[in-house]
Amino acid sequence: MIAALKAIRAGRAFALLAALFLVAFGIAVVQLSLDQQRVVDATSRLQEQTVPEIIRFQRLARNLEQLRQEGERIFAVSSHTSRQQSMFVVTLIASHPSILEHPGAAQLARETEQFLGDVVRQAATADRRPATRYDEWQRIAARLGMQVDDVSVQGINLANNDLAVATSAMKLARYKLMIALLLVGIFLLVFMVLVRRHLIYPLQRINHALSTLSADRPAPAFKPSTMLEIQAVEESISEHHALLIQNEETRQALEKLANKDGLTGIMNRRHFMQSAEVELQRAQRYRRPVTVAMADLDLFKKLNDTYGHAAGDAVLCAFANLVEDTLRQSDLVCRYGGEEFAFLFPEIGVAETEKLAERLRVRCAAMEVPLPDGRPVKATVSIGLADASECPIEIALKRADEALYEAKRLGRNRVVVSRPPEPAVDSEPDTRTASLF
Ligand code: GH3
Ligand code: MG
Ligand code: MG
Repeated sequence: MIAALKAIRAGRAFALLAALFLVAFGIAVVQLSLDQQRVVDATSRLQEQTVPEIIRFQRLARNLEQLRQEGERIFAVSSHTSRQQSMFVVTLIASHPSILEHPGAAQLARETEQFLGDVVRQAATADRRPATRYDEWQRIAARLGMQVDDVSVQGINLANNDLAVATSAMKLARYKLMIALLLVGIFLLVFMVLVRRHLIYPLQRINHALSTLSADRPAPAFKPSTMLEIQAVEESISEHHALLIQNEETRQALEKLANKDGLTGIMNRRHFMQSAEVELQRAQRYRRPVTVAMADLDLFKKLNDTYGHAAGDAVLCAFANLVEDTLRQSDLVCRYGGEEFAFLFPEIGVAETEKLAERLRVRCAAMEVPLPDGRPVKATVSIGLADASECPIEIALKRADEALYEAKRLGRNRVVVSRPPEPAVDSEPDTRTASLF
């Protein structure tokens, strides 16, 4: 239940993250553009208002300075004409719009004009030398100098204000940009960690599980994932594994059924021939002894006719059990058809196989198969053997079959060994019918 509550769709989780990122990034962008607007405003104010203002202050300062210089000249020159010329310039400057616009400068310019006008007039009429009023002039000249400084400072201050606004906006923008970049970096880091942890690692585990998925391996174990899509894939892999095991069990069961004889449960003829072929090739390759045999229950038709077909079936099953009990683990046996059985004995030659077959024959003869009504049924078996170490399986079985028929011919309930064919004595082709016995 807790796992179900904690689980979330990967698509939704990443959409949420992306939305958060977009909101944060959007806020940062808006903040940055506001700061940029402040810088632009301050710069355009500087260009459109402050710079003309500064130029006006500079002109004012220049005019005041000029006023001071003309006053100096009035005191310095000796000719009345030169003094009047300077006085004319003083009058022009005192009435200049740049001076009239500034109340402090206008007042000082008026005072200067009056003072210098008095000095020039007195020098012309009373022949009073200007030098007698030079001390007064120096005080006015000092005030003019101070006014020039004031005006210059005012101009600089105006520019400083605008530059300070622009600088602080730029500083703020820089911090905000750094924070925004930091946020982007943190977001990308978190995003990568989440993607690795919740998508890439689970996908790698899924990939490994799929590449090693097999019915003979245990079911893949997955760590509980928080992503619903990953959970769904992992669950279907587990289901697929269970299905693989089920299919494998079905396949094995079908294979057993396909290889077994339905009545006796021992190998059927088709499977025997395949296995015997492989076993024979191996024995012949390593030059190991190998023997085959054919066995046939005696007078089985009569047994069926006397006790019934079911009794015949029971005897067939009992004989198959007896064979499995008597033979070695490595021996192959099948129901070849009807009441006939075929054998392959690896690693033993005809002589040893004969002993084994004889033991089987004796045990079969001693066997009593109880019928449902309590009566015991007995059966005997005839067996033919043949060496298979140097010929194909079909030929070896054919020889064993011929030996079996010889056993029948000799009176049944016996083991007969096929003798190997005589080698040709001369180069003449042997036209005699080869008798194996
Ligand atoms: P012989 O000693 O010469 O082998 O005589 P026989 O009667 O055993 O041989 P024959 O070939 O004449 O008869 C074989 C009988 O085996 C005939 C058939 O009804 C019987 N038989 C074949 N398959 C089965 C089976 O699956 N169940 C039963 N109950 N009988 C079978
Ligand atoms: Mg028979
Ligand atoms: Mg037969």
